[in-house]
Amino acid sequence: MTMNCKPIPTLDDRINEIRLRTAEIVNEDILPNEHRLWAARQEGESMEHRREVLELRAEIKEKVRKAGLWAPHLPQEYGGMGLDFLAHAYMNEVLAYAIGAASLFGVVAPNSGNQSILVKYGTEEQKEKWLLPLIDGTMESGFSMTEPHNPGSDPRSLTTTAVEEGDNWVINGHKWFTSNGIAADFFIVMCRAVAAGAEPTKHDPMVQIIVPTNVPGVNIVRGIGIWGGKTSDHCEVKYEDVRVPKENALGHVGEGHQAAQDRLGAGRIYHCMNSVGQMWRAFDLMVERARTRQVHGGLLQDKQFIQGFIADSYIDIQAARLMTLHAAEKIDRGLQAARTDISAIKVFVPSAYGRVVDRAIQVWGAAGISNDLPLAAMFLGARTLRLADGPDEVHRILIAKNVLGQYAKGEGWDFGN
Ligand SMILES: Cc1cc2nc3c(=O)[nH]c(=O)nc-3n(C[C@H](O)[C@H](O)[C@H](O)COP(=O)(O)OP(=O)(O)OC[C@H]3O[C@@H](n4cnc5c(N)ncnc54)[C@H](O)[C@@H]3O)c2cc1C
Repeated sequence: MTMNCKPIPTLDDRINEIRLRTAEIVNEDILPNEHRLWAARQEGESMEHRREVLELRAEIKEKVRKAGLWAPHLPQEYGGMGLDFLAHAYMNEVLAYAIGAASLFGVVAPNSGNQSILVKYGTEEQKEKWLLPLIDGTMESGFSMTEPHNPGSDPRSLTTTAVEEGDNWVINGHKWFTSNGIAADFFIVMCRAVAAGAEPTKHDPMVQIIVPTNVPGVNIVRGIGIWGGKTSDHCEVKYEDVRVPKENALGHVGEGHQAAQDRLGAGRIYHCMNSVGQMWRAFDLMVERARTRQVHGGLLQDKQFIQGFIADSYIDIQAARLMTLHAAEKIDRGLQAARTDISAIKVFVPSAYGRVVDRAIQVWGAAGISNDLPLAAMFLGARTLRLADGPDEVHRILIAKNVLGQYAKGEGWDFGN
């Protein structure tokens, strides 16, 4: 089934056109080829098959570029569409309907987040050396912040150090869940900057440092197996006396925490925009099956249990979608002002996504968890999102803190703004 995407009467023509052009590529080029595009991720495939898949991906990417739909998150001067967050959210719910489509439109985590911080914090030299190749796809990257022995929920606990020695930083630390670690040409590593000869303390300022992965001392220990799989591209990495030039610091020393928050703030809304598109897809699959499957003398669509699934999923999607659009609109007014809304969607949307996919799986029966349908992968993805980029509890704490802070100032919460 194709995605039903028609112009939205309240949107301006430009964004409606972007949505329609996106839907055309999703419906005509990506959905009919989804099985082949996924197959690249299966084990034991032949080289020829892999080449065919890569060619197909390249063809679709070229079509996306020609349609002026490449890299919606990047400014036009860097080859992107220069969309604001709201327009991006409207486009993204369409492109995310197809599995893996975001990468075919040039938005792929963690590269997209790294591109955004390089645009914001990078020097001209850093942009030339790292950002441009990342945009044209000749380089890959990772973001290396979380550590196995410290809580990722509290990034201020991190203990990886960067000591200034002459013209270099010398980095020592242990990270894990550095996504895209196998393919990455460089990592942006979150460190504490320690003065030469000083003992590290938890008050040392944070700094993000660009570390090429081929520098001696960058040891990729393993791709961590997740959800029962043997391995993944979420890597455990040890940094052992890694030396990189001082100019590899991204932004100023002390700006590291803020830069990471900027990156994660944007990343969180991208995750939610993707979830909305995927929920839409899961919903279509669920309704399609309910309309055709005969069980106990009648179609599933005529059973009230199933009608309940459809209604509850409709409510979950509408709520998640409107909250995401609202947060995107607020981000355009300033990331700080949107902090509460970003945390709210980061809790609500993955959880609603999980509920919708769960119901769709139930309606499909055994087929729902088979590899013939995208639902099983969506289910794991939705669950994973409740941890990645800050677990639910951390976001709930932030929401409550901001709300209580507002009331402490003697003002109620203004839900209209
Ligand atoms: C698929 C995936 C990809 C990832 N990619 C990256 C990446 O590219 N780069 C990177 O640096 N990191 C990455 N991460 C790591 C991710 O950011 C962390 O897992 C996350 O921040 C949580 O940190 P933690 O795992 O150390 O859990 P902890 O901080 O140990 O928290 C464990 C649990 O404690 C609970 N909790 C935490 N704080 C509180 C509190 N105050 N009150 C009550 N309960 C609380 C929460 O339920 C939480 O899940 C990835 C994670 C996943 C799952």
